[in-house]
Amino acid sequence: MSGYGSIRAVRNAITETLTAEGREPSAYNIAGIARDAFTARSGGGYSLSLDAEVWRAAVDKHRRPFGLGDLVRVQVTTKTGHTETHYGKIAQFRRANGGMYRGRPVKPHSVYVELDHHTSGWLCPLTEVTPALDDFEITREWSKVHEGCLSLDSAYRCLRCGTFSYKSARVMAVHKVSGQRVRLCEECFNNDELGRLGHQVMFYERNSRQTITELTENPELITEPACDSSYEKSDGEAYREWADAFPWMVPVKAAELYAAWKEQARASAAA
Ligand SMILES: [Zn+2]
Repeated sequence: MSGYGSIRAVRNAITETLTAEGREPSAYNIAGIARDAFTARSGGGYSLSLDAEVWRAAVDKHRRPFGLGDLVRVQVTTKTGHTETHYGKIAQFRRANGGMYRGRPVKPHSVYVELDHHTSGWLCPLTEVTPALDDFEITREWSKVHEGCLSLDSAYRCLRCGTFSYKSARVMAVHKVSGQRVRLCEECFNNDELGRLGHQVMFYERNSRQTITELTENPELITEPACDSSYEKSDGEAYREWADAFPWMVPVKAAELYAAWKEQARASAAA
């Protein structure tokens, strides 16, 4: 049990824990979690129940209910049997049998999600739906938004309107798993942009399926020597270029071999 002096400290601790777990604190009823996972101590102050089950139950119970139009993440099984991560907006609530509700749905079972850049939607139980905000980190801190910018005025322009308006980006959204990011002005930033960024990640993954399979089955392919000719690329070089561009997709074993390969290349260059 850890002790906290004030309810304010309790709320801060909850917000920090939610953030550390990759959740978006604004999607939760913090006071509700405080009520269920914290107890007032007889000597004054509060203590947090560190029981993982109590915490989990409190977090699940106090997630704000999903609403129509909410941007969510779903796992979609394609016709070819692959599982893909998609983002989309909740278009309808459905019954367990897939039927529609008459009137206002009470404790809805399933949702029908309109997928971004997709002709059809996806029907799945509400329990398999995650708020998209959990997947993105959004920052408005100038130094972070423009970190690493090499342009003359050392500021990134808004990706949507910056080329003709010269408007600087004010917001950066980062897809946590992939590190893919988008920089926008306040006017251009909205949930659709998060869906678009998530869709881009899914698209990269779909296009890399073959490469992932090859490197899962034969991880050593990633260390194949380079071509002698500077006009051609060996398979090894192609795999390494792919791994540099999409590091989050590299299968574990191949990633280990590539790290060792880089270490060796560095050592022999220094020798
Ligand atoms: Zn803009």
